[in-house]
Amino acid sequence: MSVQFVAGNWKLNKGPKEALEFLYEFKEIVPENKLNQFILFLPALTLGAVAKSLAETELGWGGQNVFFEDEGAFTGENSAAVLRELGASYCLVGHSERRQIFGETDDWMAKKVALLQNHQIIPMLCVGETLEQRKAGQTIEVITNQLRAGLKEADLSGQLAFAYEPVWAIGTGEVATPEMAEEAHAALRTELKKLSGTSGTDFPILYGGSVKPENSKELSVQPNIDGFLVGGASLKPQSFFDIYKNC
Ligand code: PEP
Repeated sequence: MSVQFVAGNWKLNKGPKEALEFLYEFKEIVPENKLNQFILFLPALTLGAVAKSLAETELGWGGQNVFFEDEGAFTGENSAAVLRELGASYCLVGHSERRQIFGETDDWMAKKVALLQNHQIIPMLCVGETLEQRKAGQTIEVITNQLRAGLKEADLSGQLAFAYEPVWAIGTGEVATPEMAEEAHAALRTELKKLSGTSGTDFPILYGGSVKPENSKELSVQPNIDGFLVGGASLKPQSFFDIYKNC
């Protein structure tokens, strides 16, 4: 499978000024007809400030998280309705940092996925095993359980995207081997086939975890890897583009 999307998760990095500088530089180096193969997940405040500039590009873009209610007494949370009003078309759900640092549960993921779909925002549901779970041989069980739980309230005939991100590979410099990643992606595809009653190929499954320009090619040739979700290497326009270019 060739690379359909390269998505950048900026995490809690870049304010509006740096984001605009990034966009300017990125548009200089990426051919215009390729821009729609990139997605940016920006910090919420930055996204709000630069939404207009993002909307003027062909890039896909969106938030890193939303709450599972649109409004109400939820101090500090972000709303899917507002994300849509700003023009976003994607949102991450269940990144391992949300699960681990903020204690978010699979039940929350299910509600967030459904709510985002109601707002015509494509949820990108992240799943991944810890090192302990991998060592215990539980990888496939863990990620397929996360997938099923996250899709409990989803419309499987609607648009959905996925990221397989082994927790031990995120931000560590330790990337999954192409074989490990392909095994996980193939298992997710099989599960998606079962759940949706389709071939499952309409759902992009991105690999994430220490992806860099140096390792993207060997991962990209795996049949079930449809692209990448990139943290650190998405912060610089050139390395973000090179991940795609090298494939
Ligand atoms: C991520 O944050 O989703 C991620 C994959 O980070 P990194 O590429 O830095 O490992």
